[in-house]
Amino acid sequence: MKKITVAKGDGIGPEIMDATLEIILAAGAKIEIEEIEVGEKVYLSGNTSGIANSSWDIIRRNKIFLKAPITTPQGGGYKSLNVTTRKFLGLYSNVRPCRSLHPFVSTKHPVMDVVIVRENEEDLYAGIEHQQTDEVVQCLKLISRPGCEKIVRYAFEYARQQNRKKVTCFTKDNIMKQTDGLFHKVFDEIAKEYPEIENEHWIIDIGAAKLADSPEAFDVLVMPNLYGDVLSDVAAQITGSVGLAGSANIGEECAMFEAIHGSAPRRAGQNIANPSGLLQGAIMMLNHIGQSDVAEKVQNAWLKTIEDGIHTYDIFKEGVSKEKVGTKEFAKAVIARLGQKPQVFPAVHYDKNIPMVLPKYKKKQPAKKELVGVDVFVHWNGTSAEEIAALVQKMNFSEVKLSMITNRGIKVWPEGFEETFCTDHWRCRFKPKEGRSFSKADIIELLSRASHLDIDVIKTENLYFFDGVQGFSLGQGQ
Ligand code: NAD
Repeated sequence: MKKITVAKGDGIGPEIMDATLEIILAAGAKIEIEEIEVGEKVYLSGNTSGIANSSWDIIRRNKIFLKAPITTPQGGGYKSLNVTTRKFLGLYSNVRPCRSLHPFVSTKHPVMDVVIVRENEEDLYAGIEHQQTDEVVQCLKLISRPGCEKIVRYAFEYARQQNRKKVTCFTKDNIMKQTDGLFHKVFDEIAKEYPEIENEHWIIDIGAAKLADSPEAFDVLVMPNLYGDVLSDVAAQITGSVGLAGSANIGEECAMFEAIHGSAPRRAGQNIANPSGLLQGAIMMLNHIGQSDVAEKVQNAWLKTIEDGIHTYDIFKEGVSKEKVGTKEFAKAVIARLGQKPQVFPAVHYDKNIPMVLPKYKKKQPAKKELVGVDVFVHWNGTSAEEIAALVQKMNFSEVKLSMITNRGIKVWPEGFEETFCTDHWRCRFKPKEGRSFSKADIIELLSRASHLDIDVIKTENLYFFDGVQGFSLGQGQ
């Protein structure tokens, strides 16, 4: 018996949660339910996070959280409960299966069946943003080795458990050689541990185009946070059935399962909402807690119900559907089919003998780290690269010299193009002469000189080699 935390949420939440629980309990789920209150009532009682501290205790103790959609009240100041939960509980993996239900739900992609595994904690979503000059703001894209290893391993373990044949990685590492480059490198490393699963990498732009055009070419997809955010919505939409998808948010300790849709307040209390999205979340939960036999039974019964034409209003179509039912009747129809297999859709088979192996990240031996120079970022209002070069060259000393200036990454000195548009944000790279070492004291000397010269330094970035491998990008055109 596994104890789980359940939140019935707002709007249609309580109805679809009741239906979902009724189905999985009828299928033999060995769960004990502990209910908490989250969402609108909690927000409106003055708690801006939508969840009480005592509820956090319960979620953390039970570790498994099945959550119905909630209503975030209008107006500022209310924090998204989903984002808070993801960040607080370290839910690094967002898993969203997107399958079409042709011919019962119309779609341009009748044989689509992909699962998007999205990194959920880092990338541009760290929210580290700064305005640095009048004209330039920045957002730091942070990609970590543990973050990459955890998400890529999750994708392969998921594929193995779910009998899937291929894992595809999407990145833009032709441009972002360090950040996306690390994600791709870790993907290649971990893929080798799963020789029975095919693996491939696509550059995100052409990969996304292919996904939108021929999704049947993909199986499991793994990608960094931002790409995953965008593409998981695209993928759900093109199945033709956003209202039928569920998602899982998985961490090392805890996991949260839900529908991808919201609380649909206008449909609340009328016994008309489709419980399928939350049911899909619950099926992922059952797989996650090792009750794959129950998950399989529920999924096959649900597929059979859909192909028997028993449909809620949102997917009901004259000529295709057989019977329009409410939330409760839909649940009863699924329960009546427990033990049956679909005839049109392939029946699913989850192998309960394959538990996921998700070891905690072990820190690696630190590399030999060598400081080889520094990028000094300067706010300067002129437009001539030659002029700013003459100014910052006054910071040169002994054998430490200005070696390059870029503007938004494009090399403008030495030998820049007059046509290159320049903002007020200049990166000035200082390096020692060949053979001379470089130290933090050199950076302090450079900054001290800048200060005396009244040069407006906005930040510095150290240039390192790690075990002899260059850890920074070149200027574009360098
Ligand atoms: P929504 O997903 O609630 O509704 C969009 C449309 O889909 C509506 O027409 C709705 O009637 C329909 N719909 C959604 N789920 C359905 C279901 N199960 N059965 C039948 N029809 C369904 O999106 P929205 O209207 O933009 O948002 C409503 C509220 O939900 C907002 O307060 C929003 O903040 C919240 N929301 C919560 C979550 C979450 O808790 N995870 C996610 C998204 C939105």
